[in-house]
Amino acid sequence: MLFRSLLLTVVFVCRALAQENPEWTTPHAPFRVIGNVYYVGSKDLASYLITTPQGHILINSSLTSSVPQIQKNVEALGFHFGDVKILLISHAHWDHAAGSAEIKRLTGAKYMVMDSDVSVVESGGKTDFHYGAEAGSHFPPTKVDRVLHDGDEVKLNGVVLVAHKTPGHTKGCTTWTMKVREDDKTYNVVIVGSPNVNAGYKLVDNAAYPTIAQDYESTFRTLNSLPCDVFLGAHGGYFGMEAKFARMKAGGANPFVDHEGYKSYVAEREQAFRKELAKQTGQ
Ligand SMILES: [Zn+2]
Repeated sequence: MLFRSLLLTVVFVCRALAQENPEWTTPHAPFRVIGNVYYVGSKDLASYLITTPQGHILINSSLTSSVPQIQKNVEALGFHFGDVKILLISHAHWDHAAGSAEIKRLTGAKYMVMDSDVSVVESGGKTDFHYGAEAGSHFPPTKVDRVLHDGDEVKLNGVVLVAHKTPGHTKGCTTWTMKVREDDKTYNVVIVGSPNVNAGYKLVDNAAYPTIAQDYESTFRTLNSLPCDVFLGAHGGYFGMEAKFARMKAGGANPFVDHEGYKSYVAEREQAFRKELAKQTGQ
């Protein structure tokens, strides 16, 4: 009986992982967000192409099944997938990093990953502090070409992306920032890695990740300190991608320029973290 309920639990967890949000795999039309920043992801799994005249940077390889969608989107915008020189991720979970091995194979891009996420991507998810033992969260192991540290810059032909370590959700979760020029104005772009405390995350007495609560604290300090004009993130849901895309098509001011939306998103996520922490510490 115990074995049976254990088995059911295992089956349920695996199924929960396998049953991805359908919006993760639903294709979405690619579009220019601002300047040289393009959205090339699905309805909810955000991938970004940052273009230069001599090659491009791609952020988030997403699921293995996302790779043909991303390639199609890049090409629909008139760019060559083979011109992707650098591959980055928001964090080392399968929904952002599973396609990396295939994208490296197709493009020869250099894969650059935050220090504390390196072992997770190179083990194909097996060293993840929370999902490591769950087969449904594993993905093709991928060799990292450059290990990034907090504050490191990734440069390509004048484009400079800054890697801000925003840990907690994963140990090396990364929030990317860059400046873009459009119509003689400079905008601060923020691509949020993830401030989310997933279901089942232990914030207290977590032997696999003892500093998890402190790390979330430092993440919120960082997110609160970043200047943000253009609010983006690892999932379209973070920043209301679809509603903004619809508004963009209707014309008018660029809806992705949303300083207030960023502020209220970070404040809401910080509150959710504090609520969960209080619950787990029994306060
Ligand atoms: Zn995640």
